[in-house]
Amino acid sequence: MEGARILQSGGVVAIPTETVYGLAADAFNENAIKKVFEVKGRPQDNPLLVHIYKLEQVYDICKDIPKEAERVFEAFWPGSVTLIFNKKECISDTVTAGMKTVAVRFPKSEIARAIIKESGTLLVAPSANLSGKPSTTNAEHCFDDLNGKISCILDGGSCSIGLESTIIDMSTPEPILLRPGAISVEEICNVIPNLIYKKELLSVGNSDIPKAPGMKYRHYAPDVPVTLIEGEYTKTSKWIKENVNKNDVIICFQEFLSEFNDYKYVYSLGSFNKLNIAAQKIFDLLRECDKVENVNHIYIQAPKSSGLGSSINNRLEKASSGDIIHI
Ligand code: AMP
Ligand code: MG
Repeated sequence: MEGARILQSGGVVAIPTETVYGLAADAFNENAIKKVFEVKGRPQDNPLLVHIYKLEQVYDICKDIPKEAERVFEAFWPGSVTLIFNKKECISDTVTAGMKTVAVRFPKSEIARAIIKESGTLLVAPSANLSGKPSTTNAEHCFDDLNGKISCILDGGSCSIGLESTIIDMSTPEPILLRPGAISVEEICNVIPNLIYKKELLSVGNSDIPKAPGMKYRHYAPDVPVTLIEGEYTKTSKWIKENVNKNDVIICFQEFLSEFNDYKYVYSLGSFNKLNIAAQKIFDLLRECDKVENVNHIYIQAPKSSGLGSSINNRLEKASSGDIIHI
């Protein structure tokens, strides 16, 4: 496979996974890793996830793996939960941004696992978007951001989940949720009830949490400013109708589309009863809205904050840089 050959020779390749597309490179090739930071414009102090294709590999690169992590392996791996452990010597400081811990992801996507296997190494693969922009969930998104910067995008169609993995720090005395994601907090708590989850740790503007360096950067943001409207659905829909200019962009649930017939740009998140569809669509919509000409503002009706809704809101709160209206 051409992609695997490029990875073996130190190149960078955009690859599909079940969550979002990844910008992959050989995790043991310093130059290749540096290229990933360069291509994305990613700050050097934002560490990368290491992708494995079989469970044993986590023991090759990590140490001090607690018993409760093994319960997570059993319940969710391969799958969209990323775990952080103390790293072994073989993982370089360039991957971990100088930290003693490394984040490991074992993707469910068979294409992703096949690419890792065929490349004959492990892969670092942050989301395949320019730093700060919405993540990429299909090959066209990758092309839009990375054309001219990388020589290969592997087209695996649209990502089935569309939201990044859930990240849990397992190197601390009690596991800590660092990023809500594809697998909901509730599902994780069924397996590790002692999971520490503090919303304030995860929200916008928390700049100095040493364990979660990536959180301090602007994320998932289109060029056009975003306002997030949180609250009960009928109330948020009413607020949008009463306050939003007819030329601005509205992203709302399918159930409310008919309220906005006289608006120019209205996009559907699917039904509020099927938040997995909203997860699949959200980054595509943010990117789509950015392309609408002469638009000044995007208003988004927030999903309810539980299950996958909390993870989607986490992304939208960041996309809005904290411009949130609670009704
Ligand atoms: P992405 O850039 O989309 O791949 O997201 C990866 C996230 O994982 C970023 O927010 C990183 O800061 C975070 N991350 C990676 N490695 C570590 C680590 N060792 N400790 C804490 N967070 C990490
Ligand atoms: Mg990212």
